[in-house]
Amino acid sequence: MIDQVVSVAKTYLPRLNEKRLREAYLFAKNAHEGQMRKDGSDYIIHPMSAALILTGLKVDEDTLIATILHDVPEDTTATLEEIGEKFGAKVRFLVDGITKLSKVHYRDDMEGRHVESLKKFFIHSAKDPRIILIKLADRLHNMRTIDAVNPEKRMRIARETMEIFVPIANLLGIWELKNQLEDLCFKVLWPNEFKEINDLVQETTYQKMGVLNETIHKTGSLLKKAGINYISIEGREKNLYSIYKKMLRRKKSFSEIYDIIGIRIIVKNVEQCYQTLGILHQNFTPKMGRLKDYIAIPKNNGYKSIHTTVFGLKGVVSEFQIRTEDMHIENEYGIAAHHFYKDDKKVHLKKKLQKKYQWVKSILDLQRDIKDSKKFLARLKLDVFEDRIFVFTPKGDVIDLPKGSTVIDFAYHVHSDLGMIATGAIINGKRCVISTKLESGDTVSVESSEESDGPQISWLSFAKTHLARTHIREFLKEKNRTSVLADATSILDEKIKLLGLGGLASINDLQKLSALKFFNIESWEDVLYKLGDGTIDVADLIHALFTKEDLIGFESAPADIKAYETSMLHKKTDLMNPEKIHKISITIDSRNRIGLLRDLCDELVGLGINIVSVQTLPHVDAQIHRLHFVLEILDITQYENAMYKLRSVNGVLNITRVQNDS
Ligand code: MN
Repeated sequence: MIDQVVSVAKTYLPRLNEKRLREAYLFAKNAHEGQMRKDGSDYIIHPMSAALILTGLKVDEDTLIATILHDVPEDTTATLEEIGEKFGAKVRFLVDGITKLSKVHYRDDMEGRHVESLKKFFIHSAKDPRIILIKLADRLHNMRTIDAVNPEKRMRIARETMEIFVPIANLLGIWELKNQLEDLCFKVLWPNEFKEINDLVQETTYQKMGVLNETIHKTGSLLKKAGINYISIEGREKNLYSIYKKMLRRKKSFSEIYDIIGIRIIVKNVEQCYQTLGILHQNFTPKMGRLKDYIAIPKNNGYKSIHTTVFGLKGVVSEFQIRTEDMHIENEYGIAAHHFYKDDKKVHLKKKLQKKYQWVKSILDLQRDIKDSKKFLARLKLDVFEDRIFVFTPKGDVIDLPKGSTVIDFAYHVHSDLGMIATGAIINGKRCVISTKLESGDTVSVESSEESDGPQISWLSFAKTHLARTHIREFLKEKNRTSVLADATSILDEKIKLLGLGGLASINDLQKLSALKFFNIESWEDVLYKLGDGTIDVADLIHALFTKEDLIGFESAPADIKAYETSMLHKKTDLMNPEKIHKISITIDSRNRIGLLRDLCDELVGLGINIVSVQTLPHVDAQIHRLHFVLEILDITQYENAMYKLRSVNGVLNITRVQNDS
């Protein structure tokens, strides 16, 4: 088998180091010694078959060697280090990439979004497109030999291939591998439909064979007569799955879809492309509206070719594709072509690679694209994707995050509740702190505790995703709000008690409502919050909550006396203050000392407060002197000043407002 790989590789790699390739073969053969494939064949058949597949894509020497060695680190005792020593850093890098990719697991119950992430992860982890090529060849050979595995596993592998590998091959424009993979999956997943279409194609091809060969022959002689030395003229096979899908999608019968022959002509230069087109149109009647010049105007994905459909021999509709060899390689091998065939033209390559993502993105416009991968690409947005990492949960779900994301981002993306109580993580089996940066391929198990204090301000310095940052900020705001509210509540409560009004608990809904109206605020909690953060002054809130009567308190006096008082007081205070004067009662407890009463009275007089009466009351504690004052107070400010002054008098222990005269 190695002889076959060597001989094909030599046809396109003139400087092939045959010895090195053979060494790789022997190394892999020894490493896999005694291992069998499910079908009973020697294991070495598998990597060699994959390598042979890739010679068809004209891959370079390192890629062939890496393909031959691709299962060595995973399945044998030989290590990556040995491979590096023997075959160099580049081969080691490729084999390492393959080994990592093989850890990407697909589960049967995966939701759609996980499949999407997995595709992204797949491409992302393969930093070098050659790694994907090896993986695709590996899978293609596994699919070809899938009959050997049990039916359940067969279905799983076929579904995985259809959902992940086919779209990736399609995305990268490697049609050759894509079509083969797709038909192999088709056969496993929908065996009846596959058989039906396969039989029809075999029949039709058989019927058309004569016409196809005649047309190829005729075209060849027409070109030769015109002096065009073409490179090849070949019939094109359509892949069965695409026929099946067209039948489903367009609700057409098989014959309506598969009624034409396809021929591809490869010539030496662009000039010959147009000459060939002219010759075809001179000899066959072209079908209206079917001439497409993708050389003059390439498709957005870079696809170049001339397409024309004519009524060919025996009236069979024949579709021709005309292109140069360069165009053909690019069209057929997509990203692989960019990687391998332009290697000698370094500047050219660089430009191509720069255009790569633009090019991949524009696959969206590709007419022959399957619908699923369109969706895939639309979401993929490679420019964004480049900056992302893909991390696994212990269950194997993929979480994709921006580059630089940390454990805390991961935790919030798994579940917001998990973010709230995260305390650390185990990354690839090692215990780490929540600020640890993650890398693609990490398996992360978040450690959490219900007892955790929750998000801290410091978290914002390493939380990268919008989602995590939003949750953390919300939490901090909420936490801050809670403490602000607690402060406000105690301030207000104290203040109300100071006024002798029984504290916050005594406020009824009506009072709260009047405060809401006063400040034009929606909720009582917001009022408290604004009090707490200083937007609302406590005095204003007190005013809004209580009427002046509440604050100062009327002495309950007979109506006539009250009326008399009111009129008298009005008269008395008209000049300075039109407001009512209120009588209030207070008791002052203090340590007895000489001059206490005088000091208290001095303070009151100093504030212009009239003392209506003073009385000494008994107290259980003989050391304490209790005085009962009845005062005339103008307003709340005067009252507060009085309380402040009286409290500061030496010996005063406590002052209480008495609601009712006692
Ligand atoms: Mn393999």
